[in-house]
Amino acid sequence: MRKVRDKIIVVGAGIGGLTAALCLARCGAEVQIIEQADALTEVGAGIQLSPNCIKVLRLLGLESVLLQIASRPVQVRIRHWRSGAQIAETPLNGTDGDQAEQRYGAPYCTIHRADLITLLATAVSEHAGVSLHTGVQVHQIRQTDAAVNVSTGAGNFTADAVIGADGIHSIVRAQVLGEQAARFTGHVAWRALVPMSAAAKVLQSETAEVTAWWGPRRHFVHYPVRRGEWLNCVCIVEQAGWTEESWRRTGTRSELLGEFADWHAELSGLIQAAASDSLFKWALYDRRPLPQWGKHRVTLLGDACHPMLPFMAQGGAMAIEDAAILANCLKSAAIPRAFLRYADLRRARTTWVQQVSRRNGWVYHLGGPVAWARNQVAPWAMQRTTQTLFQFNPLTVA
Ligand SMILES: Cc1cc2nc3c(=O)[nH]c(=O)nc-3n(C[C@H](O)[C@H](O)[C@H](O)COP(=O)(O)OP(=O)(O)OC[C@H]3O[C@@H](n4cnc5c(N)ncnc54)[C@H](O)[C@@H]3O)c2cc1C
Repeated sequence: MRKVRDKIIVVGAGIGGLTAALCLARCGAEVQIIEQADALTEVGAGIQLSPNCIKVLRLLGLESVLLQIASRPVQVRIRHWRSGAQIAETPLNGTDGDQAEQRYGAPYCTIHRADLITLLATAVSEHAGVSLHTGVQVHQIRQTDAAVNVSTGAGNFTADAVIGADGIHSIVRAQVLGEQAARFTGHVAWRALVPMSAAAKVLQSETAEVTAWWGPRRHFVHYPVRRGEWLNCVCIVEQAGWTEESWRRTGTRSELLGEFADWHAELSGLIQAAASDSLFKWALYDRRPLPQWGKHRVTLLGDACHPMLPFMAQGGAMAIEDAAILANCLKSAAIPRAFLRYADLRRARTTWVQQVSRRNGWVYHLGGPVAWARNQVAPWAMQRTTQTLFQFNPLTVA
């Protein structure tokens, strides 16, 4: 096994960039993270973390703290948009013990994004092998046979390699592979936070679960965050012609109530109970799978190379998987061979998740008899997809 002594620049300190820095430093690399934001504050409320990515956080020694600050849902449950009848379920952590751990090898949890970023950023700050430069924006990447030069608003940085973990509008990708606009998917995501005390009065069923309500042209997902103090709601609506991509764009309660007016009463109850400063909406974009993930000494990771619709709740998980596999590839081969191997090992799985996520935008939103037929096969289909997603162990790849 090769000792990794490379100097590596990671562009972007989101979930992917921070995890990559930790995985690389753990293997011996000297890592600098360059982040344009002045401070690491994650917008957007909740995120689900599935067993496939928790295996990486376990390797980094972060699992026990994670489980203290996250929620452990008892199950994922799909419900009918109007009747509320159960369509399918996946048990996760019930009275029979931690089924996620038993079946897939690690727990499942839901967490406030800010808590996850704080967890990762604290680990980064405690690691001697990683330095973080905030408030620095990357403008240009130039590489020679021996090194990569990164021009930023705060001067030039040089390293043996660069990893672009700079999100869907990645400047690293544009510099290395050329400009290409992301595509609007025709979906708008709303988010809202409901105090759990209020949510418990509205919901007839278990609050400590991930619930997804499927219905015509919309779906509504909710799960606990902040150790169960809040219920995080993500409401997806098909809406052509509204393309503003910002988690900070507020929406009105009446507009969201209108979107779910004829849905089950529990959903209008949740919207009514949402904290009024927590209602935001965001147009959802993705990209087609990339045939190439980088060039020579530069590669990509997370949303920078495989942005996807959040309809499998796997964008962050894929970025975390990427991080572990990229670090493993560097242990067995030098740059740039390691980067080619990493992309080869990742492409099939991330392409599948991108494509199924996009297809789910159609499947979840069916109506009429086709929706009835979908509901008959949903328990079987959900079990099969869950198995493929969650059982995967990124630590044994490469
Ligand atoms: C509604 C919704 C729900 C979701 N739910 C889930 C879920 O439950 N589970 C899950 O796993 N995933 C989920 N996702 C997907 C997940 O949020 C993303 O896939 C993940 O955050 C991507 O992380 P990243 O680190 O690749 O990119 P980002 O989080 O976009 O981070 C990129 C970073 O790069 C920085 N940057 C950008 N350009 C530059 C530059 N030029 N110079 C320096 N820094 C730069 C940015 O400031 C940012 O900090 C969801 C997404 C949405 C929209």
